[in-house]
Amino acid sequence: MMDQENINSSGTLYLGTLAGVSIHLHFTFVILFVVLLFSSTGTPVEQGLYMAALFLSVVAHEVGHALMSHRFGIHTLEVIMFPVGGVARLSRQPTSRLELWISLAGPSTNFLIAVALTLVQIQRLGWDKTAESLRTPDADLLSKCILANTSLAIFNLLPAFPMDGGKALRGFLSLFRSERDASRLAYLIGRTVAIALGLVGLFAGYYLLTVVAVFVYFGAAQDNAAKLGRTLLAGVQVREAMVTEFDTLPHGATIGDAAKKLLATSQQDFPVVSGEQVVGLLSRNLLLGSMAEDGPDTYVAGAMNREFLRLPPESELMDALPLLSDSGACGLVMDGETLLGLLTTENLAEFLVLRRIGIESKQLAKDDQESVDQD
Ligand SMILES: [Zn+2]
Repeated sequence: MMDQENINSSGTLYLGTLAGVSIHLHFTFVILFVVLLFSSTGTPVEQGLYMAALFLSVVAHEVGHALMSHRFGIHTLEVIMFPVGGVARLSRQPTSRLELWISLAGPSTNFLIAVALTLVQIQRLGWDKTAESLRTPDADLLSKCILANTSLAIFNLLPAFPMDGGKALRGFLSLFRSERDASRLAYLIGRTVAIALGLVGLFAGYYLLTVVAVFVYFGAAQDNAAKLGRTLLAGVQVREAMVTEFDTLPHGATIGDAAKKLLATSQQDFPVVSGEQVVGLLSRNLLLGSMAEDGPDTYVAGAMNREFLRLPPESELMDALPLLSDSGACGLVMDGETLLGLLTTENLAEFLVLRRIGIESKQLAKDDQESVDQD
């Protein structure tokens, strides 16, 4: 399971919707099926049944994740099946701690299925024959399914992104360290494991393992990027990102005066003041609407929004962002009744770009420092 906002459904085959979750099959999954079909023995019917069982096992794995996310109030919007598992698009990004439980739920589901099927097999064949059919599973579909679910569980628990094990590791580390350190450490371990897997695959001739390792290696980088957005917002106060140079309108101004200001400045939203006191907010849309309906001579006080969004300067950007998108793109940063600044989606976007560049150059400097240290 990976959670990425940017995964789109290109290159996938839509399969259907299960419990409100739309399921897509990535084309690489189809390739895996073809490879398995040619490398496994049995009649076409047996092969077909085995494929179906494999597919259901992967779906069950994803359902395990989805049910656990649901418990934490996070909804799975879409699942895309890759050969190494599914990629779930979630309604919101879970914290690393929740991720620990959500990521363990998938492999646990496969383990449970394997245990249940083993019990059925023991019931059917007895202990000795069950053990024997697990050693030579080719003859028996049920034994193949037991092994497939066990390997799905173990494989997904490898401590590397985008495998569940990588996320579980990050969640586990975040119990003891800051989320950022946990991410960084888990990411390093993940890349190391990927390189090790790739080498083992090359030398032992398991080329499929090498392919998986490459996927894991690049998956780690992608997953890190998804986390970056959250890192950029985390711990930043509204006052650090707000616009501090702006114009206000006196409450006696007309819509015509406001329109002149809209043209003369790059500002879109104007706080309306009466003396020192803020009485409302006139957004570009309200201004234009009022202009069209009532003409330029009406007073801004009649058109402005009195129930504008107030943000305390020390509140966090992470919390302000959803409020901002609900309120129509502008909030007033106020310390009590004193207006300190404006927070708009445009200046927030600029702030994030600047911060990202800042973080990356710091990161580069740090990496340089580390390589110097190693020399
Ligand atoms: Zn998973």
